Amino acid sequence: MEKTKPAIVYRYGRGAYVNLTNRCPTACSFCIKRRWEMDYRGNNLDLGGAEPSPAEISAALAREYAAAPFSELVFCGYGEPTMRFGELKELCRLLRAGAVQGVPAGLRVRLNTNGLAGLITGRDAAAELSGLVDSVHVSLNTPDPAAWLEIMRPAPQYAEKGFESVLAFVRSASSVMKETMVTAVELPGLDKGRFAALARELGAEPRFRPVLEEENGG
Ligand code: SF4
Repeated sequence: MEKTKPAIVYRYGRGAYVNLTNRCPTACSFCIKRRWEMDYRGNNLDLGGAEPSPAEISAALAREYAAAPFSELVFCGYGEPTMRFGELKELCRLLRAGAVQGVPAGLRVRLNTNGLAGLITGRDAAAELSGLVDSVHVSLNTPDPAAWLEIMRPAPQYAEKGFESVLAFVRSASSVMKETMVTAVELPGLDKGRFAALARELGAEPRFRPVLEEENGG
């Protein structure tokens, strides 16, 4: 089947989803992007290496909002949004400055992530998102460092410090965000009690997701 033009913004529920990148430092065992051939509900999310600029995304969001308003902007696609941390922040700044035509500057912004932004940027990335992002959902999936390696299958440079770095990201996000959720796909062997305790210890709320939830990405 011939693919449609890649979607840089796509709609799901009441949100507008930004497809910032296809790059990802993990290869999660549950990721649906290959099985679904980079398609999500009729949207082709395969950017083919042509990552959109904040200005292009801003224009696409303005068009979408004019066609039908949305109540949330979500960074989530078949890739880890914080691989383009600078562009992510730039787009949020445009929004907060009222520069995304027609879209309210105070619109709720959510980031779905695997939580590796600290290692990706080498900085306290969550703190830098303060005032730009309202809600962070971190896909941690297990309270156990060894299981994290098996489930998330990080690239070698993220393996050694990955798990601890995600915990630090969650802790920092919890102190600056209105909402910080730590999510787990309900894979066999998951200790939900331990997972929920860890999430709360980090200052976040736990959330469990069925294996094939109707939501893609991180
Ligand atoms: S589920 Fe998300 S974080 Fe995991 S490999 Fe797929 S795109 Fe990357």
